[in-house]
Parts: sequence; C-alpha cells; structure tokens
Amino acid sequence: MNVEKYKNQETHFSILVIGKPSSEAFIGLRSIYSIQNVRVCALADEAGRIWCKEISDQYHWTICLHQIPTSYDWVLEEFKETTDYREFGDKKFFRLMFLKWVLVSQCLNEKQQTNFIVFSDLDVLWNKNPTGLVNEFAIDSSLLALQDDSNNSREYFCPGIMIWKVNYSSNKILEEIMEFHLKELQRDPYLPDDKALNKWIKTSNNRKYVFNLPANQFVIGHKFLNLLFDKDPYTINDICAFHANYTIGHHYKYLKMKLIERSGLANFGRILLQCLGLTLLAIEKTRKYLSL
Ligand SMILES: [Zn+2]
Repeated sequence: MNVEKYKNQETHFSILVIGKPSSEAFIGLRSIYSIQNVRVCALADEAGRIWCKEISDQYHWTICLHQIPTSYDWVLEEFKETTDYREFGDKKFFRLMFLKWVLVSQCLNEKQQTNFIVFSDLDVLWNKNPTGLVNEFAIDSSLLALQDDSNNSREYFCPGIMIWKVNYSSNKILEEIMEFHLKELQRDPYLPDDKALNKWIKTSNNRKYVFNLPANQFVIGHKFLNLLFDKDPYTINDICAFHANYTIGHHYKYLKMKLIERSGLANFGRILLQCLGLTLLAIEKTRKYLSL
C-alpha cells in the first residue's frame, strides 16, 4: 500500500457527546483538531449539541452534528431526568455507549472521500494522524482496535479507539454488532459496549474481522508503564494516540510491582531516569495542550 497516496486524505473522526463533557474532553477534541485536514462528526444529545456549538464557534472548528434517530430514544430515556449520568462506573452510563455503533454506522454511510472512520472517546489524546499508519495494517480487517488486557493471551478489545474501514463488510459487521448488542441488552439493560463487542468477537468466526492495533503506537493508560521497559528507547513522540483510561487501585499497584519485579533492581536507575524523562515529556505535552 502506498502511504503517500493517503497523505492528503481527509481523516474522518467520530465522537459521542452526551451531556456536557468535562474539561478533559475538550483537550481530547483539541488534540483531534491538531491533526491537519480532519472531519469530525458528533452524535450528541441536547446538552452535547450546545457544547459542540459553543466550542466550534469559539475555536472555528467545524463539527458535523448528527441526530440520535428517534428509534433509539429509549437509550437516553432514563437519563433525561438526572444530571449526573456521565459518571463512568454508573451502569446507566454504559447504556449510552450503544450509540457508538449508531454513530459509526451513520458515518460509514456518509459519502466521504475517506478510507477510515476513526471513532474516538474524548479521553484520548491524539498525537498523529492515524490514516497512513493504519492503512498498512488494514488489509483484511474491517475494525482496528486496541487490545486492553495486560495479558495478550486473554484478548479483550477496547472500544475507546476504533478505526473502521469504509467498505460494505464494515457496514454488515456493524449491523451484526448492533443486533447482537440489542439482544444482549434484553438480558442486561446496561451491558456496556466493550462487553458487547468482545462477546461478539468471541462468537463464531468474528475474530478475523478485528486487527489488534500496535500497543506502542496506540497506547492504553495502564500499559504506559510497560512501554518504559521495552528494549528500544521510547519517547512520547512514538505515540499516535494515548487513551487515558488509567487503572487506579489494586490492579495498578499489582502491575507496578510486577514491572519492577520483572526488570530487577539492577535496572532501577534506568527506570527512574526513564520515568523522570517521560514525566517531563508528559508535562511538556500537557502544557502545550493547555496552552500554558
Ligand atoms: Zn457527519
């Protein structure tokens, strides 16, 4: 595949904006607009639409606003009376995630000059345009996503970053996932998108449609530390996208201990230097995004 050919192609991002997003969502969106030649489609409810309009007016960003089809009004039904439904961890929040499929499906059907639809959660920091990069990977796969489990033998894909190839097969797969998710919601009305996606992947022969994005370029929060211990020198500039879904608590502590154990005390000086270097890079990056 010729990467050059895709250099000037529009990069089509899609985002879900339900309720008034927090400040990190703005940073996520700003990182998307830091990429040249992007098209951003947003599926938003009323509060989300107001937010999108406000920031697009202020920063001169063009956002293509999508409507939630009335046939999916039931997804939002329970949230209209409450104000704090965006809290992650609240099972009601998970129900909103069904709308990801609705949005990607709408984007796939927009007649755009693009080969991919990049779905991004708003806690993702984009550092590079993924188009040329993923074009090399997406030979046979329809969906390119991140493997979330720290143990590669237990594959579990994260729907926080999903890159969908624009073709008939993707449309069909997405229809299947939606149908599957709807059926599962009858059993568990708050089944999140990640469980629905992974259950679907494990059903029959569906794994073949999914490509595992390289973990050193599309970085999931809790895997960041692992990268410090890679053989090759590593800097934040190698990252295409960073998903800030940090794992806090027991699991995180466990990972840290495991990493220190694996690298051994002899490497401790090196680890400290790398941690310091990466912290400084992260501060630099954050300062840039916050325009301090
Ligand atoms: Zn659109």
